[in-house]
Amino acid sequence: MPGGPEVKPKSLLLLALTMAAVAAFGLKYSGAAISGEGKAHEAEKKVGIEKVSKTDAEWREILTPEQYRILRKQGTERAFTGKLWDNKKEGVYRCAGCGLELFASDTKFKSGTGWPSFWDPIAVNAVGVNVDQTLGMVREEAVCNRCDGHLGHVFNDGPKPTGLRYCINSASLTFDERKDEASEKEMEKSDKK
Ligand code: FE
Repeated sequence: MPGGPEVKPKSLLLLALTMAAVAAFGLKYSGAAISGEGKAHEAEKKVGIEKVSKTDAEWREILTPEQYRILRKQGTERAFTGKLWDNKKEGVYRCAGCGLELFASDTKFKSGTGWPSFWDPIAVNAVGVNVDQTLGMVREEAVCNRCDGHLGHVFNDGPKPTGLRYCINSASLTFDERKDEASEKEMEKSDKK
């Protein structure tokens, strides 16, 4: 068979190239969830973060038992029991431990899980992601990048544009409702009268 022996190395090379391409794509894809690559939101805004560290006793003092159990001991609240899973108001969600702004209401979406769910943090460096291998699963743990408090987990089944779902415990968050600027001006006016 003329040329027969040459075909085999060529197809092997093609196979190797294809596998390399698939591997490279896989790495990029798995990296996307961790680093938040390819975001179309908030123009890669970064916030200044000065680390907050406290002793265990100090955390116990400033947090409620439920906040302590979740933020400092990687706990999880029961679905549909938290105060913020169904919150539809506009505003900013902060870390209940240190007050860092973590999520904005315009990235909150209805996930049906019973936990507040967001498709992107408020700034690229506000929320950190660690690999969590507890409970016999490999998951990505979301943490506050200022106090390292446990927030929840990140999954790859979120909506566009990021495709991410930050599944966060209500107990790890506080909520600041955004005041309507127009109504604030009205109030100022009426104060001056
Ligand atoms: Fe924090």
